[in-house]
Amino acid sequence: MAETLAAEWAAANPRSWALHERACGVLPSGVTHDVRRPDPFPPTILRAAGARKWDADGHELVCYVMGHGSLFHGHAYPPVVEAVRRQADLAFHPGGSHELEREWAEEVVALLPAADRVRFTSSGTEATLLALQVARAFTGRSRVVKLTGHFHGWHDYAALGVDPPYDRPATPAIPHGVIESVAVVQPDLEAVERQLAAGDIAAVILEPAGAAWGTVALPEGFVRALRDQTREAGTLLVFDEVVTGFRWSPGGAQVLLGVEPDLTALAKILAGGLPGGALAGRAEVMDVLAFGGRVKVSHHGCHNAHPLAAAAGTTTLRLAADGSAQEATATRATALRGELNDVLARHGAPGFVHGHSSTFCVLLGTAGPLAEVPPETLKLGVTGALSTAFHCGMLLHGVHLFHGSGFLSTAHGDAELDRTVAALDAVVPRLQAEGLL
Ligand code: PLP
Repeated sequence: MAETLAAEWAAANPRSWALHERACGVLPSGVTHDVRRPDPFPPTILRAAGARKWDADGHELVCYVMGHGSLFHGHAYPPVVEAVRRQADLAFHPGGSHELEREWAEEVVALLPAADRVRFTSSGTEATLLALQVARAFTGRSRVVKLTGHFHGWHDYAALGVDPPYDRPATPAIPHGVIESVAVVQPDLEAVERQLAAGDIAAVILEPAGAAWGTVALPEGFVRALRDQTREAGTLLVFDEVVTGFRWSPGGAQVLLGVEPDLTALAKILAGGLPGGALAGRAEVMDVLAFGGRVKVSHHGCHNAHPLAAAAGTTTLRLAADGSAQEATATRATALRGELNDVLARHGAPGFVHGHSSTFCVLLGTAGPLAEVPPETLKLGVTGALSTAFHCGMLLHGVHLFHGSGFLSTAHGDAELDRTVAALDAVVPRLQAEGLL
C-alpha cells in the first residue's frame, strides 16, 4: 500500500494521470474551471448516470458534484434526456424566438415569487452581471454593495471580496473604476447602512442563504432588515439564487425567507444540467431590458435560452414544482449530515458536517460548535494537505466530493449514503495516522 492517501489514489489512477498530463498541453493546468483542479490531479470522468459516475480507471464513484449543483434529478435523468433529444431533432438553434423559451420563463414566473419577467443568459456569471447592469440603469446610480465571501461568478464586479482575508480581488489588475464602484462589506446592517447613506448605491447583491450556499450563515433577520433598508434607500435588492433557486424550495430561498428581492439571478437547476442562466425580477425593473422605455440595457448572447437548455430546464423545473423533491432530498441530506457527524465523533476527530437544504459541507481540523467558528474558517473549508488527503481518501472509497462539500439529487438513495458514511469511517483514521487530523 502506498504511504499516503494522495499517493495511493494517484497510484490507482494512472489513466486519469496520463489524460491530465496530456490535457496540460492544451488547457492551462489541464482544466476548464479552477475548482476542478484538486491536488494531485483530477479524475477524468467517462460516464455518469443517476448519483453515480465512472472514471477513466474504471472506478465507480458516488457523485456529490452533480454538475456543480445543477443536476437536481441526477445524471442522465431519462425524462430530461428525452426532452433534450426531442428538441435536438427539432432545432439546436432556430435563430429566432421559440416556444420553449416562453414555456421556460412561464415556469420560472410560476415558481418564483419575485419574478414577473425573465431574461435568459448562458450562465450564472452572466446573470449577476446583467443584474448589476439592470440595477444601475433602473436607478441611475453607479455603485453596488456586495458582501464578504459571497460568490457571484467570475466577472470583474464579482471578483472582489470573495476569499478570506478579502484583501485583494480574485483576479489581478481589475480596473480601478470597477474596484471603486463595488463596496465590499461584512454582512452587518450598520456597515451596509453606511454605504447606502451616500445615496449612490444601485444595488445590494447577496447569496440570500449566506456565503457559499449557506456555508457561512447570515445573522438572524439580516435579509428581512436589508429588504427594508434597501427599499428606503431607493436601492435594489438582488438575490443570487444560482445555487438556492429551485433547491431550497421550488421558489428558492426567497420563499423560505419570506422576502422578495427586486431581482433574482438564476442558473444551475434552472437549466437542468445544460448551460444556462437567467435574470428574473419585478416587471417595472426588468423593463429596462425592453425596447421603447425610459432607458434600455443592451443585452445580447448567442446562446441565451438555448433550446436544448430550455428543454432540460423546463422539464427539470416541472418535475420539481410541487416541492416533494426538495423535501425528500433535504431530509436525506439532514440524515447524511447526522451520520457523518457521528463518524467524526466516534473517531474523536475535530470537525463537523454542516449545511442546509440538500447540501452538506465537511469541515475537518476545527472543533465546533458551528456558531463559534470564525466565518473565514467556514468559508475556506478544508485546506492544504488535509484537503488533498481527504479528497483522495474519499475518492479511493468511491465518493467524489466538491471541495469537501456535496449536492444531493433525487437519485441519491440509501446505497449512496451508506457508501459515503463508510468512506468517511475508513478515511478519518487514515488522516489521523498521517498526522493531518
Ligand atoms: N452565483 C453563485 C452563488 C454560484 O455558486 C455560481 C457558480 O457556482 C455563480 C453565481 C456563477 O454561475 P456560473 O458558474 O454558471 O457562471
